[in-house]
Amino acid sequence: MNVFLASPRGFCAGVDLAVDIVDLAIQQYGTPVYVKHQIVHNPKVVADVEAKGAITVEDVEEVPEGAVVVFSAHGSPPSDYAKAKVRHLIVLDATCPLVTRVHNEAKKYTKEGKKIVLVGHIGHQEVIGTTGQAEMTLIDERQDWELPHWDKDTEVAVLTQTTLSIHDTALAVSKIKKNHPNAIVRDDICYATTNRQEAASELADLTELVLVIGAQNSSNCNRLKDVAIKKGVAAYLINGPEELDRSWLVGVEKVGITSGASTPEKQVKAVIEAISPENVFRVGPGEESTTFAIPRNLRSLVGDGTRSSHKEELIPDEDN
Ligand code: SF4
Repeated sequence: MNVFLASPRGFCAGVDLAVDIVDLAIQQYGTPVYVKHQIVHNPKVVADVEAKGAITVEDVEEVPEGAVVVFSAHGSPPSDYAKAKVRHLIVLDATCPLVTRVHNEAKKYTKEGKKIVLVGHIGHQEVIGTTGQAEMTLIDERQDWELPHWDKDTEVAVLTQTTLSIHDTALAVSKIKKNHPNAIVRDDICYATTNRQEAASELADLTELVLVIGAQNSSNCNRLKDVAIKKGVAAYLINGPEELDRSWLVGVEKVGITSGASTPEKQVKAVIEAISPENVFRVGPGEESTTFAIPRNLRSLVGDGTRSSHKEELIPDEDN
């Protein structure tokens, strides 16, 4: 059996940054450091930071007065910052800069008097953070939806969650454009989501089965699985080898493997070891070089301001 391994896969720059911020917060302030919401949507990453002294909470009001809290990579609504102020918390913001950009777009278009439409998934943490920034209409493209009956001349700006399906979002945008052809549409699906979906699409073309390694509550992992399924290839989202069902592999010669932006490389490696393929071939647009700067108040802890990447490359060079 051969494995076709997506490149890129795994940690993105936003996840690297968020994990770094928790590490540096512990280094600077000692333990415990509180994290509002899972720092990223991966139970193993959450367990790792908790083992170092982080405590994950779901509500800012669970954080003791005056403590240090890191806000997760998904972004938070202004009401969370207000609650933190009342509780005299030291807030370190691990919101991915690409999510912050969407927040800023929402505020800008609101100031300009435009109606904002957000394409995103109801209840996802990023959407909770973004809808808190300004008044907007949320469209969940997985459901039946209609826009409010706005006048044709209404100025509309369309924003999106950063981790959506490129394909499904394009369909939603074209439906919006039918009623509002002049709508401004921001390209908010991030580079990491785009690259991983492209690689997953190539995997699906080459293989009979695609395994996405990552957590069930990770939006970008689920979209990778959807990409393969839409191409008619069986695909499963699993955390690691313990969730691998051997019956999926019966009669399969080519297995595609990828992982979401919050999945550590060691989980991918463990699945490849469990499959024990004859060859591992790389597929996709290739590795990324994007990095994000850490917050100013922690920069002194990292010397020249650059950081080491958590994107461990544990899989040996390809055999081809
Ligand atoms: S998936 Fe994209 S938006 Fe989310 S943390 Fe990574 S780079 Fe940022």
